[in-house]
Amino acid sequence: MILPILQYGDPSLRAKGEQIKKIDSRIRELAANMIETMHAAHGVGLAAQQIGQPLQVTVLDVSAVEDRPSTLRLSGKDVEPKSAMPIVLINPEIELRGETEVGVEGCLSFPEITGDIERAQSVLVRAQTLEGEMFQIEASGLLARAIQHEHDHLHGILFIDRMKSAAKAALSSRLKRLQKETKRGVRHHEEFVSETTL
Ligand SMILES: [Zn+2]
Repeated sequence: MILPILQYGDPSLRAKGEQIKKIDSRIRELAANMIETMHAAHGVGLAAQQIGQPLQVTVLDVSAVEDRPSTLRLSGKDVEPKSAMPIVLINPEIELRGETEVGVEGCLSFPEITGDIERAQSVLVRAQTLEGEMFQIEASGLLARAIQHEHDHLHGILFIDRMKSAAKAALSSRLKRLQKETKRGVRHHEEFVSETTL
């Protein structure tokens, strides 16, 4: 089922996700709906906050992006990232690795807005699968960026919080307008697709 994606201005986006204690059919259905919603919106990631569920679950799929590569090690083994998509992370904990780099990001909750964000080049993630098993992944490139963006959502942090102040100031009237529209219930058409909409 495709769910409506909440836009900037909705207080749910600022909610910190609760730890998921029991991975039951409700959580599995939520994850399946989130994957369907992410794919329908042509996003590469979606966090539970974006569909109004303050829980520690996020889904990712970078396989449609050709021009921004990723690497992935799954439980210590190099794997072709495409073969492991979509990824569901439950209760993820991340460790930032390596240098930082600046890259452009969009967000499904911010229609038509992109910005340059500094992120770690790679991440180590420990999370649970939908079967409740612990697993570990190491990612770099676009996937590492997407994981950091989604992990932020799970803690109520938005990509605009990580923009340089001048860039955020330049967007301030658009952000205010979007906030007002969200409060009035105006929904943007979700046709907008950037290189990286998370
Ligand atoms: Zn986002």
